Amino acid sequence: MFLSRRLVLALGFAAMVSAGLAGHAWADGEVNVYSYRQPALINPLFEAFTAKTGIKVRAVFADNGLVERLAQEGRNSPADVLLSADVGRLVEAAARGLAQPVTSPAITDKVPANLRDPQNLWFGLTMRARVVYASRERAPITAISYEELAEPKWKGKICMRPGNHPYNLGLIAAMIAHKGEDAARQWLQGLKANLAVKPSGNDRSQAKSVFAGECDLAIANTYYMGKMLTEEKEPEQKEWAKSVQIVFPASPDFGTHVNVSGMLMTSSAPNRDNALKLMEFLASDEAQRIYADGNFEYPVNPAVPASEIVQSWGTFTPDALNVAEIARLEPAASKLVDEVQFND
Ligand code: FE
Repeated sequence: MFLSRRLVLALGFAAMVSAGLAGHAWADGEVNVYSYRQPALINPLFEAFTAKTGIKVRAVFADNGLVERLAQEGRNSPADVLLSADVGRLVEAAARGLAQPVTSPAITDKVPANLRDPQNLWFGLTMRARVVYASRERAPITAISYEELAEPKWKGKICMRPGNHPYNLGLIAAMIAHKGEDAARQWLQGLKANLAVKPSGNDRSQAKSVFAGECDLAIANTYYMGKMLTEEKEPEQKEWAKSVQIVFPASPDFGTHVNVSGMLMTSSAPNRDNALKLMEFLASDEAQRIYADGNFEYPVNPAVPASEIVQSWGTFTPDALNVAEIARLEPAASKLVDEVQFND
């Protein structure tokens, strides 16, 4: 029993040990985080938090399986806080009873109501918009709406990644929320008819396709523009990015579709007080700035300015839909993608 418990702990914090954050287990003054977001993005925040509070942060980083792991560990989980790159996993964790409500004006005053759970089970931290990358050469537009993307004038001109990717499901879910399922289905059919090639690749590769002349418009998240412009490992990505301009789609019916990364407190959090302090810190102006800058995202708090490069893309009106509503409609969006055989 003793040995197996030690083994579990050793395995559990293998990632943390390799990150050089190992310390004594479960002492006071610690908080344990499971993070779907990358260490390079998140560690500067933890360091700033520890410098301010003296509370040590012990983190496990993984791209997959953290919600499942929380569920398996149940009440014995060491995790206090879950950080996610997308809202879907936060909603999933909350739906499985793995989150507890957090009531704190230091958080709710900073995070707009439509970017957090109505029951305060999770909170958005950074925001990204799903926008149009328009060819500077062949499509020098300054405005567009999501609705227009389905109009015949763009036939054969649009590139995007597969419809069932969470980023696209979020957008389609927003369309369902605003226009109803039938109109959303029609829109999706029109969009499919306008595709230059079968949906494939990721958001960056759509910019590459525009650069290569395969299409004039691509649908992608804002932060990839910043990542491509600063990509030193594959400098040709800078050329892809420079060949397009970000246009924020908006119509009288809905603003620019946004999604969030975010946080929640686990239902079993052993270090509840420290978890609350960490969450309040992550919502603070100081942390919002560090966090959003690190990934070219927008702070959820509109009072905190985005980085210079992000600001250079212009301003936009984020859609007012609650991101929880978007997450709720994603299964319906997924059904529409299958019905119109979007990826075929
Ligand atoms: Fe992404």
